[in-house]
Amino acid sequence: MTYERFAEIVLDIPLNKKFHYKIPPSSINQIEIGKRVRVPFGGRTAVGYCVGFTDISDVKTTKDIIHVIDKEPILNSKMLRVAEWLANFYFCGWGEALETSLPSVVKRGIKTRTISVVRLCKDGASVKEMIPTIKKKAPKQARVLEVLTEVGEITVPELASISKCNTDSLYRLRDRGLITLNKRKANDSLFAGKHFKKTCHLQSTGEQEIAIRLIKRKLRERQYDTILLKGVTGSGKTEVYLQAISEVISMGRKAIVLVPEISLTSQTIERFKSRFDRVAVMHSSLTDRQRSDQWWDIKNGNADVVIGTRSAVFAPLENVGLIVIDEEHENTFKQDTSPRYNARDVSMIRAEYENALVVLGSATPSLESFYNAGIGKYECVTLKNRVGNKPLPRVEVIDMRLEKYRGKNQKYISDYLELCMKQCLSKKEQVLLFLNRRGFSPFISCRRCGFVLKCKRCDISMTYHKQKDAVICHYCFSDESVPVKCPECCSPGISFLGVGTERMEEDIRAMFPKYELLRMDSDTMRGRDSHEKALSAFGRGDIDILLGTQMIAKGLDIPNVTLVGVLSADTIVNMPDFRAGERTFQLLCQVAGRTGRGHKGGRVIVQTYNPEHYSIKYAALHDYDGFAKKELEYRKQLYYPPYGRLARIVLRGKKDQDVKERAADIAEKLKEAIRLTTGMAQSDRYKNKVEILGPAPAPIARVKDKYRWHLIAKADNSEKLRAILKSIENENRHSKRVQIMIDVDPYMLL
Ligand code: ADP
Ligand code: ZN
Ligand code: ZN
Repeated sequence: MTYERFAEIVLDIPLNKKFHYKIPPSSINQIEIGKRVRVPFGGRTAVGYCVGFTDISDVKTTKDIIHVIDKEPILNSKMLRVAEWLANFYFCGWGEALETSLPSVVKRGIKTRTISVVRLCKDGASVKEMIPTIKKKAPKQARVLEVLTEVGEITVPELASISKCNTDSLYRLRDRGLITLNKRKANDSLFAGKHFKKTCHLQSTGEQEIAIRLIKRKLRERQYDTILLKGVTGSGKTEVYLQAISEVISMGRKAIVLVPEISLTSQTIERFKSRFDRVAVMHSSLTDRQRSDQWWDIKNGNADVVIGTRSAVFAPLENVGLIVIDEEHENTFKQDTSPRYNARDVSMIRAEYENALVVLGSATPSLESFYNAGIGKYECVTLKNRVGNKPLPRVEVIDMRLEKYRGKNQKYISDYLELCMKQCLSKKEQVLLFLNRRGFSPFISCRRCGFVLKCKRCDISMTYHKQKDAVICHYCFSDESVPVKCPECCSPGISFLGVGTERMEEDIRAMFPKYELLRMDSDTMRGRDSHEKALSAFGRGDIDILLGTQMIAKGLDIPNVTLVGVLSADTIVNMPDFRAGERTFQLLCQVAGRTGRGHKGGRVIVQTYNPEHYSIKYAALHDYDGFAKKELEYRKQLYYPPYGRLARIVLRGKKDQDVKERAADIAEKLKEAIRLTTGMAQSDRYKNKVEILGPAPAPIARVKDKYRWHLIAKADNSEKLRAILKSIENENRHSKRVQIMIDVDPYMLL
């Protein structure tokens, strides 16, 4: 028997399978676990990841690896295991999971530039003594030394911008043996020219102290654990994270902080950067070069803290001791394309492999996390009060059913809100108005026959955008010209119903012509830093009224905002989704959190046609626990999460009949799996707590010309659910006729 070693390679395909390849002599010295390789695959070549070796192959003829791509392993063993878990849990390929965990610029490989960095040769104290003498003859050089005694190491461009020196002075100082100039990979172009003033820990409040102590105690155990930090908006959660990170760094370990996209503003980065030297940032609006630089910086061990959005959970840090997930309830942690992972849950797995601590922070924890804390799976610590004991704002609910129609038009701003706005603006205070719908009007309908204009490709009503003079589908982005008469009955009575931010802008400008208004939604905020600019203009007070979609619901911390108006709480309440109540509650609390941060206090006005809804009532009372108790009762009855786990299977295809048949076929397989694993029929679902709902047309039955059907698999625990889904794992999910998508722990059921 010939002794042969094979490399186990996983590929970026939706199959959870390791392929065996022979290692040719030319690759023997290069191949290592965690490196990428080029291999022949199905008549072409493909990039794969080496995940292991084996002496025995189950296939008769194995092909040779073509070549090894990486000089150093690009993934460490922990990251490989995290990806393996992800593939198993979310039903995708291991290679697909690895593909997701690396930024595409890193895979393409951008060459890094080098940059000169300057540092002192001698210790700061002795240099300080020399400065007065040098100052007399060479003031520029003295200034350079002054800066260097403060900052330690700095890049030449940064130094130049702070000290206004030229390279001449630097060369002189080097020749005098006072400084060194070294080449380093240019990796801080993200922070180039920015200087962060160092800050120290704040004197923590009593509540913060308790939280920090608990976290420190857990960190010292160096074991996987999860703490839920439940703190109202403005209670100082970020300060708790900062002190926890400082502890973990002092232990020689590292930290990852995940935040939702919209809260990762320069303000947030600054808070971290001014406390810690070696901070790396990973988010979507970096340039390719910046992203690549940041990634390599982390990989090369030059970062202690990584702050980023969802994908930063895969940051190539070694020795992670702490993972913080701020606003852990946010659905942006869930990726909405394959693999549909939730970064919060992936964090916990990574933390387990790293023996790290996870801190979940939120004012309105997800019911899953709240429940887990309740049953003792997580530790829980609460910050009940805002810093400085500032009260939470008063929330008033306005019943829009009682508002009188003005003329023939429906009113969107109640008399009360209008009055409060006047009062607030006349005191030169600022107003935030929130409306979760963009465009001018979301319904275009015929007054005569009731026809509603829908997208030709999707089962979605078109939204009228006045500025663009077009009707647009918010699902597939296709646009059409505005109809002048009804396409159905040819009557000219086309009317535009409902209201979006664009229309609100027009109305409010007409009501308050003397005041500056800015609209913030994805139509007006297209540029890379337009969001940033708008927020800082608002922060400076250049804008009186800020009107926007959920973009403005987070992160804003401006003391002069004394009024927040929620123009319609109903857009979310009415969504056909079991999380609609939870989302409404969370959003209202977030929005309310934008005010009352200064000494002027703040108030919130919520307009709704559902004033009796429990989510709105509890949000108005700032009563998270009350809300959670009620919501959990509902969830328990139907063993919805957190009492059970869900998976959603969506089927899509050009022909409705094909999709319907395939859906029925999949349903049959799943039901058969239930019979096999539990020995009980689907009809016993209340006894064995597993069931298949559907197949049924998805609530949005057509998107981009494709018909959609879905099934929901529901089980009281994750193992049961997995066992059942296994039965369809190897179905062809990418056939031309019908595509099948499996979404484990779905966030959206539309
Ligand atoms: P959260 O993240 O809970 O919304 P933050 O951490 O942003 O709250 O804190 C809200 C405000 O209170 C911030 O301006 C922060 O600088 C300030 N703050 C936090 N902790 C303290 C403290 N111990 N002493 C003084 N100010 C604090
Ligand atoms: Zn008509
Ligand atoms: Zn469409």
